[in-house]
Parts: sequence; structure tokens; C-alpha cells
Amino acid sequence: SQPSPGSQELQLQDVFIAVKTTRAFHRSRVELLLDTWISRTREQVTRSHLVVTNCSAEHSHSALSCKMAAEFDTFLASGLRWFCHVDDDNYVNPKALLQLLKTFPLARDVYVGRPSLNRPIHAAEPQPHNRTRLVQFWFATGGAGFCINRKLALKMAPWASGSHFVDTSALIRLPDDCTVGYIVERKLGSHLQPSPLFHSHLETLQLLRAAQLPEQVTLSYGVFEGKLNVIKLQGPFSPKEDPSRFRSLHCLLYPDTPWCPQLVAQ
Ligand code: UDP
Ligand code: MN
Repeated sequence: SQPSPGSQELQLQDVFIAVKTTRAFHRSRVELLLDTWISRTREQVTRSHLVVTNCSAEHSHSALSCKMAAEFDTFLASGLRWFCHVDDDNYVNPKALLQLLKTFPLARDVYVGRPSLNRPIHAAEPQPHNRTRLVQFWFATGGAGFCINRKLALKMAPWASGSHFVDTSALIRLPDDCTVGYIVERKLGSHLQPSPLFHSHLETLQLLRAAQLPEQVTLSYGVFEGKLNVIKLQGPFSPKEDPSRFRSLHCLLYPDTPWCPQLVAQ
């Protein structure tokens, strides 16, 4: 379907969801996503489904910024209304995502996500004559996912498209997610809209109550101090069968999924 013009009610087809990944994680992480939430949002997860970047397969600032630039450029070319970035250890609930994005007025510039810190980050911005200026800004944790509307993304292009993103990131010497915040807040004077509905494995995920889980826009899993940091869910799968808990969550949200245990009427 064609991207719908601004006046129409927002639909999932209007949202571009980019999942950052690397070859080493295709088996261990991406398969789980394809089996679960991506199976419900195939269209949104990049139009051409897989964009192979020339970015180096490293966990370096420049390699990850190179991927963010590729996500951004693919979104700009898509013509869609919203750009959402997630990592390959995030679960996205498309219904909750759509509900959140619908709350924003069309005329606004929107950058929404979970603030990474409880205060603004500081960066040294290079100035002429070898001087630097200390600047502050808020940014959304990349590992929890964030979204930007097209209106704002177009304004970001001079610093975020093509090779500019890697240059901007190198200039302030901060990772890709900080760089997004820097461009939005310092270059454009816009602001991060904080949302508690995005989650990374940097927070204690067990604290979310089971009843809250279906309302969350993103969830995650990871290891913290040698222990699994995952959402707390009774079942239907055991922690051994489903260490990330994403399969159990998916069955909670979509009980009709063929591989979910079916409740049989007596
Ligand atoms: N990633 C990548 N290249 C790498 C390592 C990681 O593109 O060499 C991606 C990975 O697929 C994930 C994100 O970067 O989407 C964050 O990686 P990870 O979750 O391993 O690390 P974290 O920053 O959460 O500790
Ligand atoms: Mn991670």
C-alpha cells in the first residue's frame, strides 16, 4: 500500500521499523524476532526487508553510527511517516506503538523514547581556534528503541543523512543514540519526549508487572552481572525453553499463534 498522506489516521503501514543487527546475531537473536513480533509486522521492518550495509562488523562508535545512518537514509527514501529504531534484542508491540504514535499532533516535531540518564548528557562541541564548548542535551537509549516523525527527520538530514551522521558522531565523540539526541536538541532546538513505555536491558525488567506487559511499546532481555535480566512471565514456556521470555510474551499477546500452546475447551 502507498504511504498515506498526513490527514489520514495513522496505520502500522505508515511506520518504518529498523532493526539494527550484525551477522553474528542473525541466528541467536534475529530468528527469535522473526518467529515472534516481526511475524506480525513484516511490512514495517524495512521495506526491502534486509539492508546490508558496508559498515564494519564491530561494536565501535563509528560502525554503529554507520548503521544508524543507513537506517535513517532507508527511512527517508521510504516516504513513510514515522521512523522507529530498535536493536535486535528488543520486542516491539505494534499495537502499543501505534497507540503511542497516534497521540502526537501532526504539526509537531517528535522524538520519543526512554531518556538514557536522569539528567542531560554533556558533550564537548569543537569550536574554531581549537576551542571546545560544553553542551548538554537529552537522548533516548538506543537499546530501548525510539521514534522520530518525518517532519523532524527531514530537518535532521543535514547532520544525519549519508556520511553526515558518522561525522556528527565523531565530532562529539559519542555513540549513535547520543548523536541523535545531539542533532535533535542542539542543532534543531527540539526536545526528547520521554516515554516510560520503551525498555532496554539496562533497567531491571523483572519490575514490570504482568498486567503492564501488553501496554509496553518495547521490551528487551540481556545479561547483567552474570544473571539473565528478563521480564517476569509465568509461562507458557519455561525459562529453559524461552530464556528471553519473548516467546511467552508473544503467546500472551497473540494466543492464536500456531506454535503457542492452545487452550482446549473441556
Ligand atoms: N551490533 C552491531 N554490531 C556489532 C555489535 C552489535 O550492529 O558488532 C548491534 C546489535 O545487533 C544490537 C546493538 O548493536 O542491535 C547493540 O548490541 P548489544 O545488544 O550486543 O550490546 P549492548 O549495547 O546492548 O550492550
Ligand atoms: Mn543489547
